Amino acid sequence: MPDSPTHRTAAAALDAALADLDARSLRRTRRVLDSPQGAHVRIGARTLVNFSSNDYLGLANDRRLRDAAHAAIDRYGFGAGASPLVSGNLRPHAQAEERFAAFVGAPRALLFASGYAANLGILAALGGRDGEVFSDALNHACLVDGARLARGKVSVYPHGDVDALGELLAASAATRKIVASDAVFSMDGDIAPVAALVRLCERHDAWLVLDDAHGIGVLGAHGRGTLDHLGVRSERIVCMATLGKALGGYGAFVTGPARVVEWLVQRARTYIYSTALPPAVAAVASAAIELLESDGAIVDRLHARIAAFRRACAEEALGLSTSETAIHPLIVGAAETALAMSRALEDGGFLVPAIRPPTVPEGTSRLRVSLSAAHTSEEVRSLAAALARCRTR
Ligand SMILES: *Cc1c(COP(=O)(O)O)cnc(C)c1O
Repeated sequence: MPDSPTHRTAAAALDAALADLDARSLRRTRRVLDSPQGAHVRIGARTLVNFSSNDYLGLANDRRLRDAAHAAIDRYGFGAGASPLVSGNLRPHAQAEERFAAFVGAPRALLFASGYAANLGILAALGGRDGEVFSDALNHACLVDGARLARGKVSVYPHGDVDALGELLAASAATRKIVASDAVFSMDGDIAPVAALVRLCERHDAWLVLDDAHGIGVLGAHGRGTLDHLGVRSERIVCMATLGKALGGYGAFVTGPARVVEWLVQRARTYIYSTALPPAVAAVASAAIELLESDGAIVDRLHARIAAFRRACAEEALGLSTSETAIHPLIVGAAETALAMSRALEDGGFLVPAIRPPTVPEGTSRLRVSLSAAHTSEEVRSLAAALARCRTR
């Protein structure tokens, strides 16, 4: 390509923007793990206790899931070879959908390639130019992007503020209304006021799109998710549950009323125009659901670790915000503080990520501790002690 003056300016702008990220402690770097994901990970020569993954049940490297993948590869090969509506919908995909719908007690489930793709697909398919999406201020990026793809108005309400949301809904003249919210907020670990959201959606004839990425496998009986935990059911709810976190695999299910799921099959572009997941990935999803159904102890183990961590943090007077989920942020403010603490923890053998803007609002940089059923109680207690040490320094 000829090096035009315009291109040189564009390149220089990128170099300057990258240098600016460096200057503000906001440049992200990737680590390379030399081991499977798990409670302990190897990075080069070092083994660290891992408090940075969303593998909340320690299933990412579970033998039963690996066996399911191997068996499915032997029977169905690897690639799906086509999008689901053409010929990429194989028996393992159909089985996984039925199994998940039965697991959470939903009329129907649809298997998307990822949670990100699912949320884009749902919001774009349910929305329209005459629609309005009402979005919690702390929603995950894929709900934010999905709201834009819905092509209508987007109204952001303050985090968890149902009164403000009620006023926005009442003032809206849109013909199709959608309220979108994380069920468990990914950087804070708090739970959305789902029952109140449902009441508002019923009053204003709106859909409630919930993102249960961090609730599935963590909350509710056998990890059935936030809706089970809260005892909320409604024909208004369309719920996305990713397979990439507690369920140890990849992909995502969307559940909801049969007519909504059928509409997504017809209109969700990220479902229709993308190759279906490898059938082995769907088989792993079925195996993970089977495991949760048959083994209630694994979710109980996670909650025992959560309780032990919270007790230890209270003893160290760390002042964590309340969270009954696997996510426990320690908000420190400045990006460079979070980064320095994360490095100190790593020197001590703990992998705890520093979460900085734009992932979280300016001035709320934090260490995000995520707990797993695969940690020992000793490990979570020693992390609390290490957090207290590096906080005082
Ligand atoms: C991780 C995450 C997603 C994306 O799910 P993937 O299956 O990883 O694409 C969506 N929403 C929230 C809240 C998440 O944390």
